[in-house]
Amino acid sequence: MIDIRALYNLQKIDVDWDKVRRRLLQIQKSLGESAEIKAKRTAAEAVQAQLHNWQNQQRTLELETQTLKTRIQETDDLLMSGKVNNHKELEALQANLEALRRQHTQVEEQTVEAFVKTEELGKELEAQKKELGQLLTTWQSAQKKLITEGKQLKTQFIRLKQSRQEVADAIDKRSMDQYEQLRKRKSGVAIAPIRSDNTCGACNMQAPSGIIQASQQNQTAPHYCPFCGRILIRE
Ligand SMILES: [Zn+2]
Repeated sequence: MIDIRALYNLQKIDVDWDKVRRRLLQIQKSLGESAEIKAKRTAAEAVQAQLHNWQNQQRTLELETQTLKTRIQETDDLLMSGKVNNHKELEALQANLEALRRQHTQVEEQTVEAFVKTEELGKELEAQKKELGQLLTTWQSAQKKLITEGKQLKTQFIRLKQSRQEVADAIDKRSMDQYEQLRKRKSGVAIAPIRSDNTCGACNMQAPSGIIQASQQNQTAPHYCPFCGRILIRE
């Protein structure tokens, strides 16, 4: 003897319980920063590092320009001072001055390049930070929703666990074993309802009328769907 209706009620709880459990696992996996956010953050950090390098470069070049300017001025002053009369020395000073001026031009060009790069990278970083900020805002509100849903599901989980215990307590061990085994083999559905058009609620096949009649007359002996092997029940 087997109480098919009690087992069917138990199965309804188990199906809901499985759903809650699956969703809870899904939520657990979705909590925490997404790959998209992590990638965006890494990209922004890379731009930040580049910007930092160029800013340093710019400062170094500005100092170099300052030093060169002073040296040019000093050399120029010396040339003009009339203190150096030796022809060779004057030539050397002149050559030195020209070299300093060339170097100055070069450093100025490099300074402009560093300035442009710093500007570009600064804008890029700003755009990336803005994007990251938007992503974080969307992500945070999604996380909040997930956390709320998770809390509700945990309550539901406990409630279903209690209900299952109550229903299971009233079922004999042999019936329970049979149910559990069948459920394991049949993807969580051991008992299938017969629909009004006499099709099996699990595999959708038309159940033979003999089996339907028998399942209605004797609800304590299991009658199986010949197609999917589940126990049939008229709801
Ligand atoms: Zn079936």
